[in-house]
Amino acid sequence: MNSSIAELHKLYAAGDAKPSGVCREALDRIEKDNERLNAYITINRESALKMAAGMDADIQAAIKQRPLAGVPVAIKDNMCLAGVRTTCASRVLGDYAPPYTATAVKKLEEAGAIIIGKTNLDEFAMGSSTENSAFGPARNPVNAELTPGGSSGGSAVTVAAGHIPVALGSDTGGSIRQPASFCGVVGLKPTYGRVSRYGLVAFASSLDQIGPLTTNVADAARALQVISGRDRHDSTSSNAPVPDYLGALSGDIKGLRVGVPPECFGEGLDPEVKEKVEAGIRKLADRGAEIVEVHLPHTKYAIAVYYVIATAEASSNLARYDGVRYGFRAEESRTLSEMYRKTRDEGFGAEVKRRIMLGTFVLSSGYYDAYYEKAQRVRSMLAGDFAEAFKRCDVIVTPTAPTPAFKIGEKSNDPLAMYLGDIYTVTINLTGVPAISVPCGSSKAGLPIGLQLIGNHFDEARLLNAAYAFEQS
Ligand code: GLN
Repeated sequence: MNSSIAELHKLYAAGDAKPSGVCREALDRIEKDNERLNAYITINRESALKMAAGMDADIQAAIKQRPLAGVPVAIKDNMCLAGVRTTCASRVLGDYAPPYTATAVKKLEEAGAIIIGKTNLDEFAMGSSTENSAFGPARNPVNAELTPGGSSGGSAVTVAAGHIPVALGSDTGGSIRQPASFCGVVGLKPTYGRVSRYGLVAFASSLDQIGPLTTNVADAARALQVISGRDRHDSTSSNAPVPDYLGALSGDIKGLRVGVPPECFGEGLDPEVKEKVEAGIRKLADRGAEIVEVHLPHTKYAIAVYYVIATAEASSNLARYDGVRYGFRAEESRTLSEMYRKTRDEGFGAEVKRRIMLGTFVLSSGYYDAYYEKAQRVRSMLAGDFAEAFKRCDVIVTPTAPTPAFKIGEKSNDPLAMYLGDIYTVTINLTGVPAISVPCGSSKAGLPIGLQLIGNHFDEARLLNAAYAFEQS
């Protein structure tokens, strides 16, 4: 597979490839690698090949009209595709197949993309390693003993392995950016409201957002262009005009003010990650950016705030899995409440149960003010931090994650250690701003490191251009 959409379209334009050939090759490699990497939960071989064959004859014309014509794409298995099972990597959904397609996915299809499969994830997107999957862990293509990060691990793996140029992920607290950083690809979390959440199975509705994982920044811009925009099925989707993201990639960042928050370069940060990200900041300066110090003083509360708000929202969102309407139902219950209890006990994995219990607790009468309400107040303070910082700069740079990829099993018995790894990503979801992780070199052991660029609300065009300039350097 060629690594970018532009290269693939060049082959189509020259008549050197056809969608059916490209898809067959991608599917063969995906199926072969799946034994080792476990990136996919469902592979749509038949339907993808059928759709590709239907495009073969007209592909040269189609690439001029449709931005993703003949491009094989995968989606995280928490997004609905009509008639195809959607598992969220959970037993509780059983073989549930939705009767409709998520808006972002539908937009991909309308742009000519071929959906070749649904990728592995942490159950209900809860996790940072893709180990919390009822279908077994996904593995990092750089080294199969390592996790690919999570929760959009399968999407990062398939792009990093060179199977396909674009996969969609979802990001509630870092789930697109952190796996992108662990696998050495680009991952973009758009502004809250930029992309419709209709058909994305809800984890924490005030934080969830769909975005692309790609091998390069231009493809992230292309994909964002396609999936963005107002959707009447999602009242939180925004009317803000969708600019020409690809056209914004000039690579010129002269005078761009790049904010560096010292709070994100202190304790807990792996020295090799620090060194690479600081070197990355110097590269931005070399290209004419102006480096300014900014402060995000409430960052130290971010993990606590996130794990109160995200679990609270999750506990209500996951109440619907009761064995009545969706998927799995436990057998042999004598009463309705026993059926609920057994279904949820057998259907959910340990991490999801932990979150439901935490979330139920922080919302419970007598504790609501002390936890949930307080967390919401600190959330506003975090938003204040970013608003202040963006008065002084155009984009902010931080590491994406405090360490490179860790070993499978290393943190799976220590939820707190796992949660702490989300320190640089969760503030972005709590405040709704967009952020992108771009590869910025490797550790001495050869593990990819990601640099995170953060933009102001709906400023993806400038954010993507900064990332593009960085990539060029
Ligand atoms: N790692 C974070 C969590 O476990 C973020 C997950 C996500 O963004 N879906 O909640």
